[in-house]
Amino acid sequence: MAKDKSESEQAKLAALSPFELKDELIKAAGGGAVERAANVSMLNAGRGNPNFLATIPRHGFWQLGLFAMRESERSFAFMPEGVGGFPRRDGLTERFDLFLRENKGVPGIDFLRGAVSYVRDQLGLSAGDFLYEMCEGILASNYPVPDRMLKLSEIIVGQYLRREMIGKHPFVGEFDIFAVEGGTAAMTYIFNTLRENHLIRAGDTIALGMPIFTPYIEIPRLNDYQLNVVNLEATVESGWQYSKKELDKLRDPMVKAFFLVNPSNPPSVKINDESLQYIAEIVKERPDLILLTDDVYGTFADDFVSLFALAPKNTILVYSYSKYFGATGWRLGTIATHRDNVLDRLLGELPKDVKKELHTRYESITTEPDKLKFIDRLVADSRTVALNHTAGLSTPQQVQMVLFSLFSLMDTPDAYKNALKRLIRSRKQALYEEVGISFEDDDPNQVDYYTILDIEFLGERMFGRKFVEWLLKNTEPSELLFRLAREARVVLLPGKGFGTQHPSGRVSLANLNESDYRQIGRAMRKLIEEYVERYNKDTGSKLDKHAVK
Ligand SMILES: *Cc1c(COP(=O)(O)O)cnc(C)c1O
Repeated sequence: MAKDKSESEQAKLAALSPFELKDELIKAAGGGAVERAANVSMLNAGRGNPNFLATIPRHGFWQLGLFAMRESERSFAFMPEGVGGFPRRDGLTERFDLFLRENKGVPGIDFLRGAVSYVRDQLGLSAGDFLYEMCEGILASNYPVPDRMLKLSEIIVGQYLRREMIGKHPFVGEFDIFAVEGGTAAMTYIFNTLRENHLIRAGDTIALGMPIFTPYIEIPRLNDYQLNVVNLEATVESGWQYSKKELDKLRDPMVKAFFLVNPSNPPSVKINDESLQYIAEIVKERPDLILLTDDVYGTFADDFVSLFALAPKNTILVYSYSKYFGATGWRLGTIATHRDNVLDRLLGELPKDVKKELHTRYESITTEPDKLKFIDRLVADSRTVALNHTAGLSTPQQVQMVLFSLFSLMDTPDAYKNALKRLIRSRKQALYEEVGISFEDDDPNQVDYYTILDIEFLGERMFGRKFVEWLLKNTEPSELLFRLAREARVVLLPGKGFGTQHPSGRVSLANLNESDYRQIGRAMRKLIEEYVERYNKDTGSKLDKHAVK
């Protein structure tokens, strides 16, 4: 069989991150700038960016903005040149109630009324203080103070994280939150501060839960970090769970930290309870182990419990609002650490000379730099320490984050959550139906934000081992992806780039409509049947290309 691309071309493509390879696939699918202008239709299932978004808390944001503008203009004598002032705290709730009455029936108004009641009645906070923080925040006329996160905003977002990440799991103590520009900023900040504080040094070993969102593979390799990496492999055969044998790699005292994405990306499966428990047991034996869990997809899972709930003192929790609220453009994420955590303890145990160096690093921002908590070091380092006073997430971003959080806290009994789950799961159903694979969806750990089409696993299931061996021998890894792109204008991301062990494609179930997933499924089916025909011709076999498994 003629191979699709030259070997040197293949090698270049293999070195690309899946997100860069995607751009090559888009070109092959005729989705370059010129073709886009000509409106050539392409089905890009490579994007993790959802095509849905939460409307109600956004309506709330805009209405709150109108109210805050009224407050600003009211606080100064009217100036036709367009000069306003800061909102006033006294009488704020009364004026807000009036605003709600005047705008009865307008989208977002009921939500805002509910949100203020929730904050007052369920969270026991002052409605006036809350409205004041929100109005000041949405007007954005002050630097974020405190820089780590606005005060009431932190409490509300904390409640949201508790509900979604901890649930009914017992949890002792409190945690701090740093509001950041999305999950990716969280990663950047955490890697940097771990290094600046000598908690992870060049030459150290970290463990990665594979396959994983590519930056976690790429950052440790950078010259800035030079980390050794131990991979913990989850496999398609085990339903993308980590075996005990893999998890036992964490017992090695050389391993300083374990970074994982849970539920995973790309398999989109949450770690089962048994494995979480097992990791928590290992942590008891290795109290110095640092865990970083990126739980961006936790809100799409059934009964999600984060590793942060099981091993709170060792775990840095990363969360992002990007996916669940369809808010990638807002750049909203959080980093949370327990008030009593291993990071602060390890900082206290650093050698004298290192402590002295860090004392100097942070002495411009506090009189007691040795006592500066890890999470506050993240804040300072995010602005190269010297600009600490301007650190923090913009206040309108924090307001929208709070409104998203309140929307979810008030979403009982999970109407929004269930609507999203139904949406992505019916897309998956449509896709697999057309490919000709029936799947028993009885794995409660599947989240289905993405699905991995593993050529070896599915090919074997459909047409047997011999066919798969022939296929792998006679095709280049990215050939199928390029043929899908060129011939059917379907773009998937290569699973390999995320560290999957077999050639595979990642299909995002969040980004297109159900009919598109049917079309993608049909395109794949056509391609598969063609390979079966070639196989039959090549080997004299008589596989039924129409078989459905
Ligand atoms: C999409 C995604 C993120 C989101 O990052 P943002 O910067 O918040 O958009 C973070 N982690 C993982 C694993 C993701 O898949």
